[in-house]
Amino acid sequence: MDDGVKIMAFQKKRIAIMLFFTAFWFTLFYVLGTVELSLTVAVLEIGMGIVGAAFIFTLLRCIITPLIFGRAFCSWVCWSPGVFDLFGLYKSKTNLRRNKWLYLKYVVAALLIFFGLRNLLAGNANFPTQQVSLMKDISVIILGLLFAFPFGHRNFCRYLCPPGSLIAYFSKWGLLKIEGEITKCKQCGTCKTNCPMGVSAKSYVQSGDRIYDRECILCGKCTDVCPENALKYSFRRDKDTW
Ligand code: SF4
Ligand code: SF4
Repeated sequence: MDDGVKIMAFQKKRIAIMLFFTAFWFTLFYVLGTVELSLTVAVLEIGMGIVGAAFIFTLLRCIITPLIFGRAFCSWVCWSPGVFDLFGLYKSKTNLRRNKWLYLKYVVAALLIFFGLRNLLAGNANFPTQQVSLMKDISVIILGLLFAFPFGHRNFCRYLCPPGSLIAYFSKWGLLKIEGEITKCKQCGTCKTNCPMGVSAKSYVQSGDRIYDRECILCGKCTDVCPENALKYSFRRDKDTW
C-alpha cells in the first residue's frame, strides 16, 4: 500500500466513525425525539438549578472528556463535522493560518450563556423546539460547507462553535495529545500545510513539546502525512501545561 492510500484509509475510517455518530445523534434527537443536549439547553438547566441530561452531557463533553481526550470529541464523535471532513477529504483549503478571529468562538459562547441567563432571569426561559434545533443543526452544516472554500472545511469549528470553545479551552490540559520526535523531524512543514485547524505541529516538535494547541482536534492527519513518521498519538500528563 503506498503512502497516499494509507493516509486516505485512516482518514476515511475516522470520517466513517464521525458519520456513524452524525446518524446516531440525529436519530436520537430528531427521529426518536429524546432530550436536546445542546449548550443552550444546558444553560437553561443550570439557570433553573436542574441537573438534567443537557447539563450532564455538557459537563462530560466540554470539561471532563477534554481533560482526558483533549479535543478528540470534535474529530471523532461530534454530530456536524463528519460531513465537513468528508467534503475536506476531496476539496480542502490547505495552509491555514492562525488569526485573531479564532477567539470569536469564545465570544459566541459567552454571548450565548449571557443571553440564556438573562432571558431566564426575565422569566422568558423557552426551551428550543425540536424543529428549531433541527433547523439550527442543518444550517450549521450548510453554512460550514458554503464557507469551506474561503476558510477551510472546519471553519465552523475554528471560528464559531460555542461548545467547541469550551472543549478547546480545557483540552490544553488533556492527557491525549500528538507528540513528535525531534530527531526524525526534517522541518518540511507538511504537517502544518495539511492541518485542517491551522496548527503547526512542526513548531511544537522543534520546541520539544507535545501539541498543546487548543485548536488541535486530534484528527491525526499530521501523523498520516508526515513523511518521516515523526508524529504519533501519546497519552500522558504534561507537567508544563498544568
Ligand atoms: S511533517 Fe514531519 S518532518 Fe515535516 S515538519 Fe512536520 S513533523 Fe517534521
Ligand atoms: S495538529 Fe494534527 S491532529 Fe491536530 S488538528 Fe492538526 S492535523 Fe489534526
